[in-house]
Amino acid sequence: MNWKPIKKSSDTWNIKPNLPDYHQTYSSFSWEKIRRELDGLPDSKGLNIAHEAVDRHADGLLRDHPAIRWIGSDGTILDFTYARLKEETNRFANVLKQLGIQKGDRVFVLAGRIPELYIAALGTLKNGSVFCPLFSAFGPEPIFQRLSRGNAKLLVTTKPLYKQKVAGLMDRLPQLQNVLLADVDEDMDKTVRSLSEQMTKASKTFTIPPTDPEQMAILHFTSGTTGMPKGAVHVHNAVLTHYMTGKYVMDFHPGDVFWCTADPGWVTGTSYGIIAPLVHGVTNIIDETDFDAKRWYEILENQKVNIWYTAPTAIRRLMRMEFEPRREYDLSHLRLIHSVGEPLNPEAVVWGQKKLGLPIHDNWWQTETGGIMIANFASVDIRPGSMGFPLPGIEAAIVRRVNNDKVEVVKDPEVQGDLALRAGWPSMFREYLHDEERYRKCFVAGWYITGDLARRDADGYFWFIGRADDIIKTSGHMVGPFEVESTLMEHPAVAEAGVIGIPNPMIGELVKAFVTLKPKIEADEKLRLDIMGFARKKLGSAVAPKEIEFQDNLPKTRSGKIMRRLLKARELGLPEGDISTLETS
Ligand code: AMP
Repeated sequence: MNWKPIKKSSDTWNIKPNLPDYHQTYSSFSWEKIRRELDGLPDSKGLNIAHEAVDRHADGLLRDHPAIRWIGSDGTILDFTYARLKEETNRFANVLKQLGIQKGDRVFVLAGRIPELYIAALGTLKNGSVFCPLFSAFGPEPIFQRLSRGNAKLLVTTKPLYKQKVAGLMDRLPQLQNVLLADVDEDMDKTVRSLSEQMTKASKTFTIPPTDPEQMAILHFTSGTTGMPKGAVHVHNAVLTHYMTGKYVMDFHPGDVFWCTADPGWVTGTSYGIIAPLVHGVTNIIDETDFDAKRWYEILENQKVNIWYTAPTAIRRLMRMEFEPRREYDLSHLRLIHSVGEPLNPEAVVWGQKKLGLPIHDNWWQTETGGIMIANFASVDIRPGSMGFPLPGIEAAIVRRVNNDKVEVVKDPEVQGDLALRAGWPSMFREYLHDEERYRKCFVAGWYITGDLARRDADGYFWFIGRADDIIKTSGHMVGPFEVESTLMEHPAVAEAGVIGIPNPMIGELVKAFVTLKPKIEADEKLRLDIMGFARKKLGSAVAPKEIEFQDNLPKTRSGKIMRRLLKARELGLPEGDISTLETS
């Protein structure tokens, strides 16, 4: 289907966006200018993310403004003003110092979205140590892999998580000499102690030591397709990207209330669930619970959320529900909705416009890029299904690899190739921990090759095709699973689809779709054939799935991505590879 563009003009703005004219800002952009909009540490002692996110506001006009509004699973609401956040993060930094945790040492947090996670993250950055978040739902083995590969010196967690998942690993983690439990009042032993007791003893004043912008700040593990998870290293200078994308994509304005639904175990929950909103001095909503449609709409209404950042998987779940959100809830405070993590089907963009009153703005980035690289903006027309334009300061291109040292930039529009970014933006990952060679291989002739395939249209919009690993070669065609999945989702019975290629001697690979249905719809042969016919009509017989299998649920990562490689491994009876990020509940 050809989706109509969603037009933007100054009549559609209720606030003038920070980026009223994309092309003008893109051509006149400089990172130096962005740097000047930030503070820097006093006396030119460098640049520290936590100073930009917390202290400069606490010491200024936003002192009593809510920085974090935390909503507990039982409905408790806790507000942390910028001044209080400064004190709490100072205390945590002092705890680290007192325990001998130094610059560059790794501080891991294994916890749900509790306030201590956020305090630990920012306090760690203040101390010049490295923050490493882990999903609380990881099992012991993925936790062990990450703690040992990351050389964890200190872990913040809770008593139940410690007992169930970490206690049995301690013998194998000799370097981990401090575990701080967020939910106990007394120390368990010399290694496993009460965080609150340490915090009470610690001073509430702390001076951030000089911080080189290139100093390691955050370590994010991202799942590899096989083998060990990769540890992507980010530095303090990344805050320039967090700030710049907060300004131009999130369009933060003073007084805004922002909600990013991602868990900090995934990079989105750190870059945008912690850093970007705080750097802009807005109020950051944190919800302790996972997806729950009713609760989510209530949060949007009760907290008067202005800007909402979520993921396609959640949007698709909301789409499945047959009700009119705006009839039941007051969503009038919402100004912008953004999505990341997976391709956002055009259907979902338009659903947002119809049901929530706002189109959903897709944006693209990766753990390795540290921040948003390609986006739809408040002021730019949306072409549903497109990721939008590169951010100011980011040069994106479609390239073709010539050899290991050379790429060719594809100038013609509509040509499929590797999506690449000109290396050197501030939040670019600086290494894969312990894997120099793998890191080096990501860069060719000054370009970072993202591992995704895409195309650019004649007007400069980028369109996602697929992970290079997921592309299906069938009867001489290259098929991106996203295209097929999006079409399947246009069928009225289909809720979600995951598409893979199965080796086939006649046609190379055969396109197979796994499909989940909307509530109350029965899976039967008639429906299967109907969906197959529907897809064939829209996609043509070469690209449409030759096989469709109904499933109750598709395997997803904890960040909501459909795990196509797992669908494939299961289909073919192959080893499942690293499934530490598989959502199990
Ligand atoms: P991660 O590092 O886990 O966040 O995964 C990054 C990958 O997710 C990208 O390389 C893409 O394959 C996919 N991805 C993220 N955002 C988008 C998007 N807006 N459209 C399509 N794919 C996306």
